Amino acid sequence: MHKTIQNLIDIQKKIDSSLKSLTINKVPKIIAVSKTFGMDKISPLIDHGHLDFGENKVQEAIEKWSDVKSNNANIKLHLIGGLQTNKVKSAVRLFDFIHSVDSEKLAQKISNEQQKQKKELKLFIQVNIGDEQQKSGVDKASVSNLYSYCKSLNLNVVGLMCIPPFEKPSEKFFKEMNMLNKDLNLNELSMGMSSDYLNAIKNSATYVRIGSNIFGQRS
Ligand SMILES: *Cc1c(COP(=O)(O)O)cnc(C)c1O
Repeated sequence: MHKTIQNLIDIQKKIDSSLKSLTINKVPKIIAVSKTFGMDKISPLIDHGHLDFGENKVQEAIEKWSDVKSNNANIKLHLIGGLQTNKVKSAVRLFDFIHSVDSEKLAQKISNEQQKQKKELKLFIQVNIGDEQQKSGVDKASVSNLYSYCKSLNLNVVGLMCIPPFEKPSEKFFKEMNMLNKDLNLNELSMGMSSDYLNAIKNSATYVRIGSNIFGQRS
């Protein structure tokens, strides 16, 4: 069996066994974060039946996924990296989910493109949960305003997303995210990476984004 498939199965087992001791509303899904890896590494997972994949750069995703996706209608592609407004058109065309909505300007642009392309993506609002200067994401205090703005545009915001500070334990941030998400009555919560996905699940994550634990270290 291909190593990536074995890795995915191992992760799924860990998730399943930790779910036994939790009460959750929704079974979390694994987004296989395939950024920097080629189709040679990705296609065994597709053949295995995995459907959710994450990329952080629009151009790289177009090159890798355009053909594959048109031949596999069930694949869901998640944009998990920052999105510049000049790439929104291509992003709306290729992706099924955008996890990085963090401004009214971006929301407006996505709305315009969706109308032009007659397409509706599922969106996450990215929250800068650690108040880090260099990180994208909306401030905690502005989440609710941005959500209302998105609703006024009829955007399909399904949940919140975060990348907590790397140098600190993520549990506290995951707890805060879970509360914010509940306050807004949102169904999905995108958080947890290779190092902390089990903690994310304890705090009601519904999508964990896992790269290196599946594909190996990125160079
Ligand atoms: C790269 C990336 C991940 C996956 O990180 P790993 O530590 O390799 O699991 C998850 N989320 C985002 C936003 C990323 O850019």
